[in-house]
Amino acid sequence: DRSLPGRWVRQWAAGPDRAQITDVDGTEISTLQLEERTRRAAQGLIGAGLVPGDRVVLSAPTSAGFVQAYVAALRAGLVVVPMNTGYTRSEVEAVVSDARPAAAIVDSDERAGWIREAAGRPVEVLGPELRLPEAPDAVLDAAAAEDMALLVYTSGTTGRPKGVPLTHANLLASITGVGRAWRWTAEDRLLLTLPLFHVHGLGVGVNGVLAHGAAMDLRAGFDVADVAARARSGRVSLFFGVPAMYHRIADAGAADALRALRLVVSGSAPLPATLATAIGDAAGQLPLERYGMTETMMLTGNPYDGPRRPGTVGVPFPGVEVRLAADGEIQVRGPNVIGAYFNRPDADAEAFTDDGWFRTGDLGEHDADGYLRISGRSKDLVITGGFNVHPVEVEDALVSHPAVVEAAVVGRPSEAWGEEVTAVVVLEGPVSDADLRTHVAQRLAAYKVPKRFERVDRLPRNALGKVLRQSLR
Ligand code: ATP
Ligand code: MG
Repeated sequence: DRSLPGRWVRQWAAGPDRAQITDVDGTEISTLQLEERTRRAAQGLIGAGLVPGDRVVLSAPTSAGFVQAYVAALRAGLVVVPMNTGYTRSEVEAVVSDARPAAAIVDSDERAGWIREAAGRPVEVLGPELRLPEAPDAVLDAAAAEDMALLVYTSGTTGRPKGVPLTHANLLASITGVGRAWRWTAEDRLLLTLPLFHVHGLGVGVNGVLAHGAAMDLRAGFDVADVAARARSGRVSLFFGVPAMYHRIADAGAADALRALRLVVSGSAPLPATLATAIGDAAGQLPLERYGMTETMMLTGNPYDGPRRPGTVGVPFPGVEVRLAADGEIQVRGPNVIGAYFNRPDADAEAFTDDGWFRTGDLGEHDADGYLRISGRSKDLVITGGFNVHPVEVEDALVSHPAVVEAAVVGRPSEAWGEEVTAVVVLEGPVSDADLRTHVAQRLAAYKVPKRFERVDRLPRNALGKVLRQSLR
């Protein structure tokens, strides 16, 4: 088999009858069943007239059916376009008019209608269970390494989401490096509460499980009590989360439940060092923080065996090269990195250097031992009175105050300063602006101290828990 999923679903290392996927309702699907079901569904997709290279939107809540539809589409040589189930009509239209899918696997008639109207071509609409007539002659698992497997849209944190075409080779390179770094084996069982329409849940979670012949317990969403109970049960060995999840675990006093796990990973957004340490103290292991992006999949991570450093994202995964440009921008290269965006020559021109490195748009520095520290995104940098202020640094100082639950720092246009450092804070308990200012001033240089504070009930975040600084500005 040349294609990944064909190889993945014939991973018999743990035996064909082992429960490989536990669905959100507890139903178990064995490795053998996964192979048979995805084979039949892949044949059905080809029988329905789809041809290799056709794009198929996949947008449904987490379920074993979702995973099966994903694998079946890849085995049929189709390109899967995962789409956020929370997208509004205009967001759906933006993705669909760009991706121009031939088919859509969705669980809602309303969304199916939006997709049909926006596609500008006939779209085959199917439910996630893919009830299709069999077509036993269909050729499966024939995709080449260079063929596109996924077309994923970025989170849209800094602007309009960009289409990212990931090849089978990109996905394989990334998950192989991650698997080696994390000692992933067929014995592992991942507790998967992340959304599957994003590369964290899909590209690391689902792909990692399948590539290593491991197992996954799917959950409909993240719930602290549920995660704690499942971790305590001893049934699962891995948990991957975003910082917002670790906040909620720590707030609920449930971090000790993570003791039973072999590996606890954080990514997608910065994990404040104070939070990492708090989780680490209670869980007996620091969450392993890693860094990646849609365009490159996983880039760096703290070591599995060596010391993990809170506030850093560690060292490159096997096969990945990282360099810092003169202005501090993190640039990367490797078989995991895309060759170009989908239909975005403007973004390509910005994203690739003349010597072929990918510009992440993130700023970083290396500490003495080569651990990478992300200081922020170049687009978020606040320039005040000619000085550069990294929002993350000021946010970390603010959240170390006991009354500050969350903070986001942005630059606000100012005649005197160019931009004025402005902190948007979520507080618990009374605290004055002057108190907050003093607290930051004890930790950081004067020009980094926020000139203004805005109090809000909660910060605007996207589905992955990333703060939407654009909308705060
Ligand atoms: P868009 O590109 O549309 O603005 P996005 O960059 O948020 O959205 P993703 O590809 O989902 O879309 O996210 C990648 C980004 O997430 C990285 O460039 C980086 O800024 C951030 N990120 C990921 N992991 C970490 C981490 N451990 N620490 C800090 N930032 C992280
Ligand atoms: Mg990005």
